[in-house]
Amino acid sequence: MTPTSAPAILRGGEWLLNPTTDSEAVFTPERMTDEHRLIGQTAQQFVDNEVLPVLDRLEQKDWALNRDLVKRSAALGLLGVDVPETYGGVGLDKVSSLVVSERMARSASFGATWGATANLTVIPIYLFGTEAQKRKYLPQLLTGEIVGAYGLSETGSGSDALGARTRATRQADGSFVLNGEKMWITNGGFADLMVVFAKLDGDQFTAFLVERPYGVKSGKEEHKMGLHGSSTTALIFQDVHVPAENVLGEIGKGHKVAFNVLNFARFKLGAACAGGAYGAIGEAAKYAATRRQFGSAIASFGAIKHKIGEMVSRTYAIESLLYRTAGLVDARMAATPHAASDGSAALAAFEEYAVEASIAKVAGSEALDFVLDENIQIHGGNGYVKDYAAERHFRDARVNRIFEGTNEINRLLIPGMLVRRALKGDLALIPAAKALQDELLGPPSLPASGDGLLADERQATEAFKKVALMTLGLAMQTFGEKLTDQQEVLMHIADIVIDSYSAESAVLRASAASAKRVPRADLQVDAARVFVNDAAMRIDAAARQALAATVEGDTLRTMLAGLRRLLKVTPINTVAPRRRLADEAVSRGAYPFAG
Ligand SMILES: Cc1cc2nc3c(=O)[nH]c(=O)nc-3n(C[C@H](O)[C@H](O)[C@H](O)COP(=O)(O)OP(=O)(O)OC[C@H]3O[C@@H](n4cnc5c(N)ncnc54)[C@H](O)[C@@H]3O)c2cc1C
Repeated sequence: MTPTSAPAILRGGEWLLNPTTDSEAVFTPERMTDEHRLIGQTAQQFVDNEVLPVLDRLEQKDWALNRDLVKRSAALGLLGVDVPETYGGVGLDKVSSLVVSERMARSASFGATWGATANLTVIPIYLFGTEAQKRKYLPQLLTGEIVGAYGLSETGSGSDALGARTRATRQADGSFVLNGEKMWITNGGFADLMVVFAKLDGDQFTAFLVERPYGVKSGKEEHKMGLHGSSTTALIFQDVHVPAENVLGEIGKGHKVAFNVLNFARFKLGAACAGGAYGAIGEAAKYAATRRQFGSAIASFGAIKHKIGEMVSRTYAIESLLYRTAGLVDARMAATPHAASDGSAALAAFEEYAVEASIAKVAGSEALDFVLDENIQIHGGNGYVKDYAAERHFRDARVNRIFEGTNEINRLLIPGMLVRRALKGDLALIPAAKALQDELLGPPSLPASGDGLLADERQATEAFKKVALMTLGLAMQTFGEKLTDQQEVLMHIADIVIDSYSAESAVLRASAASAKRVPRADLQVDAARVFVNDAAMRIDAAARQALAATVEGDTLRTMLAGLRRLLKVTPINTVAPRRRLADEAVSRGAYPFAG
């Protein structure tokens, strides 16, 4: 497949510093090729025809069926989207990978089973494996002959993954012996091959490839809130012998494996969340069309239209930022000369867009939980009982805010990574923040009165980014090296950055759709306008909190005046656009936009 064509290659986080004027430079779902749509249809049909009909058996923990479905997904090429043909994959681009993750999400718990192999086992081996490891394990994984798992978390070390206590001891013949226990491992009950992190000789955090026959035991199945059809157990290592050649990556560099895999996985989790939201909006819309109260379909009530309109608008923003990010990753990979079999370009690209991957994870999982909560509310009492899927979706999704780095950890990472890059000179954040400070201390300039479609929203998103710069720049200046201790401030700044990227991505996509006269582009404009309107209020509140927690007295008053100068966003009447979005979803019985 040809790589996704030519969006401008911004560096990670760079969108925050400069106006993005060219909506054509941004990849959107409307630019998907037939090949992207085809792999999406393959995944969709697999889920609809092969997984959803057997969901009850999966929820009864029929692991043989789970394994069989992994094999069938492999036969369709769904497991190996990211891996070149040399190793048994299908070697597609990251837009394809995103589309597949979206569609697989509708398979409920099977998505977790599938993802633990496709994302958490295949990807680390492809990115960090030796040629021999790739040749040995990838073909078996990519035919579904063996199933994978990823053993990072332990009872005492979840977020603090490097605090792992599982230990490896080097033997005289160069092999290793592992002792310890991993917790909450997806596919733990039946995985054949595990990527396991342990400390060699007490302090060298290292990744190992561990086959079950080496002596790995599984703990009992956890009784979980949701995802009942996926296996989650402890993995127990008691004097497990691992051959010398099964170190994955470099000794003492396990953190590189762990964190880079998470960059990939977070982006894909964001995609899975978007996929879940598309499905839930369809369910809510269909239910609202048929459920009658007071002599009318509940879909005719403004309160319900507001909910569905909001579900659509938030999902639209997530979808827009995901495709934009996939386009950036693909463009960067295409611009980096590399052999098809070489994973280093993908590794570098995901490292580059680690901030955007964290944004995708946090924004996606929180938008999905919002959508699923409203889906239950629209279902009323039927939303609370097991006869309808709304209840299961709600339970299944809750873990998305916990795994792949909790949303708190990801929120801390977003400003943290921006600051690190700024201090390294990789991102011109400090000069941009200084220039903004001068602008705010100078005489007010006349607001550039933009015209044309979405002109106000474009201006608003530029202001959002400046608010992010202002709050982050001021926090860096005030707290210096102690900024990491100011988690409350960092959380607010992360929220501003997340809303800025989401809003800008939505506006750029809606502008491109209008320019190209995409069918129902008017609804995309509605979705973007509603999102920007509400984001302005959230950003204003978050910025006030961040500023007041950073400075006081006259400096605070000056900063608040600056905030008022930046955020001159006049609220719009969102009733009509939300109603139009809701009516479209109800008439289609589906999320209106997904490609
Ligand atoms: C269904 C399921 C499947 C899973 N699958 C896997 C798997 O396949 N492989 C694997 O390795 N793990 C897996 N996990 C584990 C998961 O990754 C961890 O649960 C997660 O990383 C959080 O760790 P923890 O549970 O120890 O929470 P903790 O780290 O104890 O966090 C508790 C709370 O404190 C917050 N917190 C922690 N540290 C900080 C900090 N520095 N600053 C601010 N707040 C902080 C957290 O955000 C959270 O709100 C799975 C978990 C579940 C529930």
